[in-house]
Amino acid sequence: MKILVINSGSSSVKFQLIAMAGEVVLATGLVERIGSADAEIRCRLRPGSEKEQSVKADGLVPDHQSGMRRVVELLTDRQTGVITDPQEISAVGHRVVHGGEDFHQPTLLDDAVLAAIEKNIPLAPLHNPANLDGIRVCRELFPGVPQIAVFDTAFHQSIPPHAYHYALPHELYERWRIRRYGFHGTSHKFVAGECARVMSRPLAQLNLITVHLGNGCSMTAIENGRSVDTSLGMTPLEGLVMGTRSGDLDPAIHAFLARNCGMDIEAIDRLLNQESGLKGLCGFNDMRDIHAAIAAGDPRAERALAVQTYRNRKYIGAYLAVLGRVDAIVFTAGIGENDPVVRAKSLTGLAHFGIVLDEEANRQRITAPTLLSAPQSQVEIWGIPTNEELAIAREAKELLDMH
Ligand code: ADP
Repeated sequence: MKILVINSGSSSVKFQLIAMAGEVVLATGLVERIGSADAEIRCRLRPGSEKEQSVKADGLVPDHQSGMRRVVELLTDRQTGVITDPQEISAVGHRVVHGGEDFHQPTLLDDAVLAAIEKNIPLAPLHNPANLDGIRVCRELFPGVPQIAVFDTAFHQSIPPHAYHYALPHELYERWRIRRYGFHGTSHKFVAGECARVMSRPLAQLNLITVHLGNGCSMTAIENGRSVDTSLGMTPLEGLVMGTRSGDLDPAIHAFLARNCGMDIEAIDRLLNQESGLKGLCGFNDMRDIHAAIAAGDPRAERALAVQTYRNRKYIGAYLAVLGRVDAIVFTAGIGENDPVVRAKSLTGLAHFGIVLDEEANRQRITAPTLLSAPQSQVEIWGIPTNEELAIAREAKELLDMH
């Protein structure tokens, strides 16, 4: 069984073709800058094998449909392709950002499901329309092939009302469904499953704090295998300090900016989503640049690192209180897997809670699940690579197997 995984953005489509027997990646790639003159398609065929081949195509990609057509051509190319016929693809798994309250699990796409994703556009005005573009194109390109939506929000639908309600007039929830939804659910669920596997414990008996630190950052409290709280909110802006997103703020800052700084709502939205976070604090949004700047004596970069890791620690503290007993803390994604300094700073001073990092083990970059806690630590600390594409493919397969 071969599953094509699609992550369709407003001007890009990421894709991966996975053979589920042995979970082998046959092809992985990206269509970038769709609609602009310098659009590009990059693809690695048979990555990691002796026959690995990188192919690049540029030229006109006016829309998602032409981009995906070119991808299918690359995949089925007589000489270099990895399949001979698109019909070899058993299912297409789509990452969909916002499922609102409608979706608790991966869902077979039909017209009704498309309409429900469309209904949730106000909750994710940038993401859901782009996801829908990808779905519509694939329905045309792969007629009769099951299309499955895997929602970023689904894993967090188990969060109880006292944790998902904001203290706002109840009518706003009734009328607009303003509440916490949470994101990165596919990643949190995947690393939680991996953690249970490497700890040789049933996930349903584990309490975990999963810490996803990439460009976007979020933390989840997992009780008996289910998400009970998470740091991202109605939109992916709340919580931790991210690459360009502010995370938690005093909500009165919005009014202050409007009244005193001459900013309208669009400008404030842009400021908080694109010009804040690490980038706002020090000018860099990539943690590697921040370390280089710190080494060169840049005090703002030092502060940005301190603000981010302090916020991480504060949330770990909050989720220790939410869960009571914690079996493991899991770090994942670009920063979580690669940055020992961020991991160490996010966990300093927590020895009284039974959380002790093994400095030596923590030095490594994480390429496979790795235990990072000291032997005396009561809470295990793990670095576990996330793999959202594989997670989507597995969920799609599971759904197909059930039908
Ligand atoms: P996304 O949220 O876009 O999926 P990733 O999970 O790939 O992001 O994380 C990207 C971020 O990971 C980069 O912006 C950078 O801050 C961080 N990163 C990547 N490699 C390293 C590294 N070797 N050391 C520290 N940080 C890294």
